[in-house]
Amino acid sequence: MTDVRTVAALPTTMRASVLYRVGELGVEDRPVPVPAADEVLVEVGSVGVCGSDVHYFRHGRIGDYVVQAPLVLGHEAGGRVVGVGAEVPAQRLGQRVSLEPGIPCRRCEACRHGRYNLCPDVRFFATPPVDGAFCQYVAVPADFAYPVPEAVSDDAAGLLEPLSVGIWSCRKAGVGPGSRVLIAGAGPIGLVTAQVAVAFGAIEVIATDVAAPRLDAARRLGATGTVPAGTVLAAGDAVDVFIDCSGAAPAVDAGIRSVRPAGSVVLVGMGADTIPVPIPVIQGRELRVTGTFRYANTWPLAIALAAAGRVDLDALVTGHFGLAEVGAALAASADPTAIKAIVTPQH
Ligand SMILES: [Zn+2]
Ligand SMILES: [Zn+2]
Repeated sequence: MTDVRTVAALPTTMRASVLYRVGELGVEDRPVPVPAADEVLVEVGSVGVCGSDVHYFRHGRIGDYVVQAPLVLGHEAGGRVVGVGAEVPAQRLGQRVSLEPGIPCRRCEACRHGRYNLCPDVRFFATPPVDGAFCQYVAVPADFAYPVPEAVSDDAAGLLEPLSVGIWSCRKAGVGPGSRVLIAGAGPIGLVTAQVAVAFGAIEVIATDVAAPRLDAARRLGATGTVPAGTVLAAGDAVDVFIDCSGAAPAVDAGIRSVRPAGSVVLVGMGADTIPVPIPVIQGRELRVTGTFRYANTWPLAIALAAAGRVDLDALVTGHFGLAEVGAALAASADPTAIKAIVTPQH
């Protein structure tokens, strides 16, 4: 490791949880990565389990991304800097950090416009063929490892990633002081989105889901009200913003019909590739409809919201699993009474 400075003598091999093929995981030894000149080496502390991890485990693909070779899952990671490349200041050693998991090219038109989430050459953790963070060490560009204060726990450092999805969807929707917001789907993304909407000043945040335990969680975590799944709000109750975090066709239809004229619809949830939407409603009310793809420039705000206690990420955590228990962590994520499973790769 010439030109790499470390906190102490580091091992040369580490353990990694590897997805070999659909439904088949194993723990194997791999070399500890060597950080490039502009990278930090991070000892991974906590990694949230995402719906996308579960999807790769069960189906081996998401859209055009297909698992064709062994893949390390996990992209919601926090940890500690234990090594720095030649160009990275030694003061970064020992810092607790949250990892932004998509590394863009920094050169293309999207990157130069600050819309780096749309970079065609982005390398994103746990998206084939790029390995993720269900392993003991990862090397990442130093500016994508954000220092977090003590007020942000190790688990919360990892969960700044889903929080970023919520921040991005609320930004795209234009949520602000006094907004009235309907959120379909009270899984982890719906729950962080509800909290962000409140933090952005929304006066009303209505959650809907088919699972009663998730609606209970939504009420605990910031939603001001809940309605049964499929409810179309009456014209007098119509919201400014509908954010779909469910991907469910009936929820998208009912949500669009619940937005006031000139309101906004943001489609975050992933379900069927093609679903019907009520075109006359979108036309007649001049609704703005957009999707989201991950996020850009969200980490500074995510850290600030978590550090100030304006969002509670630790309250989402419903279980911890060691590296050999990734299968159980993925299975737990399918249980509607569970919210967020965390993998702790050092255990
Ligand atoms: Zn995720
Ligand atoms: Zn780019």
